[in-house]
Amino acid sequence: MNVYDSARMADVLAPAGFEMTLAPEAADLVILNTCHIREKAAEKVYSELGRLRTMKNKAASDGRTMLIGVGGCVAQAEGEEMQRRAPFVDIVFGPQNYQDLAQMVEDAARGGSILKTNFPARPKFDSLPERRYEGNATAFISVQEGCDKFCTFCVVPYTRGAEYSRPVADIIAEASAQVAAGVTEITLLGQNVNAYHGVVSSSAPGQEKWGLGQLIRELAGIQGLARIRYTTSHPSDMDDDLIAAHGEVDVLMPYLHLPVQSGSDRMLAAMNRRYTVDQYITIVERLRTARPGIALSSDFIVGFPGESDADFDATLDLVGRVGFAQAYSFKYSARPGTPAAGQPNQVAEAIKSERLAQLQAELQTQVRAFNAACVGRVMDVLFDRPGRREGQMLGRSPYLQMVHVIPGEDEADALRGRILPVRIIEGHANSLAGTLVDGALRSENDPVALGASP
Ligand code: SAH
Ligand code: SF4
Repeated sequence: MNVYDSARMADVLAPAGFEMTLAPEAADLVILNTCHIREKAAEKVYSELGRLRTMKNKAASDGRTMLIGVGGCVAQAEGEEMQRRAPFVDIVFGPQNYQDLAQMVEDAARGGSILKTNFPARPKFDSLPERRYEGNATAFISVQEGCDKFCTFCVVPYTRGAEYSRPVADIIAEASAQVAAGVTEITLLGQNVNAYHGVVSSSAPGQEKWGLGQLIRELAGIQGLARIRYTTSHPSDMDDDLIAAHGEVDVLMPYLHLPVQSGSDRMLAAMNRRYTVDQYITIVERLRTARPGIALSSDFIVGFPGESDADFDATLDLVGRVGFAQAYSFKYSARPGTPAAGQPNQVAEAIKSERLAQLQAELQTQVRAFNAACVGRVMDVLFDRPGRREGQMLGRSPYLQMVHVIPGEDEADALRGRILPVRIIEGHANSLAGTLVDGALRSENDPVALGASP
């Protein structure tokens, strides 16, 4: 979501004459878009700010002005404290305030120190300028923001604010414009994306609200849109219609990130997750019935306050029962202001590290097995960028695996932005290697071209 937000910040600043640069030292304005989810992410902000301060001083000694802004959830959570700790920062603004960035920059240029971290009554999406096409085949679209779930470890409800769903019509318009410009894969974003419940149009409120399943079915009708994904979903919001959509909507990719956090009912209750292990497994089974072969990914937290060896073993047990194609796991990080942070039964750092290593070893075995099982299969790959090796092109499989191929001489450019069949020849820990199927570059084999014809 920060990637999406950063792109929208650039949209807001474009009319004021700003364009992106890859050279921060030469920039007139540097914005850090920050994450507060774990302590490590928040700490990075201050070390990065130290580097920017040096650049800002250098610019000043060269007679230039460099403005520094900090946006996102660390800015939201720390606000005035950040202004005190890093007084050389000109603008501190929260995730719901970047629609006003052009004005903030103008005020800061006149010497002001700006702090804006309120939750405006009018959603920011209503005042963002039209989105520009970034030249990629893939695009993120925020459809939902914020969270009302209040898991006891999590800062999101405090930093992103209450749950909000954008109107269906606005999302369809943004998606259609992106597809018309060249996007073929859209990932719908939300902190709790499947809690989506949007009105059809903001000009006709008071009507029935749509769920995510209904929104996906509507988006699937956009000609030229070949792939839809969504993230991140909460298990208790996987409703019947959304599960059914996985079986019925071809362009909805057979991959789902469904964070479970723990395999212990005792921990899930303490986390306020609102589901049990059995309920999670039932959802997985229903998804696998609706869409055989669907690949699953998840998030895990080890060392939540009070987690015993038996609770942790229950997590390993759940991993064994489900089987994941991808996974993200973290040591519990106490976040200021959340209920779990104040609990007395915190788990020792050494135990957290030990459990994390054990869990990650198990998950990595599953991911490797999933990747190895892909060898010999032909998969559609959406190519979107060159790889590090000479002539290499990178793309994503339907299961979101990174796939690299080395196409024939002068063919690399022809791959970019297209979905082409690839025979997988190697499965690694984090990627697959493949070769283009013979004749794949002829347009009759191109699923996008096929999809676009009547
Ligand atoms: N809304 C999603 C998760 C969003 S946060 C959900 O409910 O599943 C992304 C991930 O960060 C979470 O799934 C969780 O695994 C991790 N996370 C959040 N807060 C954390 C904390 N305090 N310590 C460690 N990991 C945390
Ligand atoms: Fe955080 Fe997700 Fe829980 Fe919301 S549902 S509080 S975003 S972990």
